[in-house]
Amino acid sequence: MRLNALAQQRGSGDRYITLLSRLKERPDGEAVSADPPHGCDGMARALEDSRVPLEYLPKYREYGLLVAGGSAVQIIEHCPWCGLSLPPSLRDEFLDRLGAMGLEPGDPEVPADFASDAWWKGREIGGGP
Ligand SMILES: [Zn+2]
Repeated sequence: MRLNALAQQRGSGDRYITLLSRLKERPDGEAVSADPPHGCDGMARALEDSRVPLEYLPKYREYGLLVAGGSAVQIIEHCPWCGLSLPPSLRDEFLDRLGAMGLEPGDPEVPADFASDAWWKGREIGGGP
């Protein structure tokens, strides 16, 4: 089985960790940790560490814990390491903006900047952290 082969190759028998590290490279190729707005040392280390089931999704400005083996994400609102509030998710705003254009996620007509954080960074949306 491919996952077991990868685990052995990485010198680890832990299939779960291997699975999580693979999930950090999402199947759709979407960046999950590019230039996050909250960058304390603990958060920065966690996002770099493929063993930590945490991701930052730039297009929604969301931090989340991967749960159920990575098949679901639990959004977090405070940094687990320093306790500061994280900037609010822009997922609803994202969907509202697409809806106003008559589009849904995955539609080929979705503007390219909606594939990353460019849509909200370029429009000064949502305020700062
Ligand atoms: Zn922090």
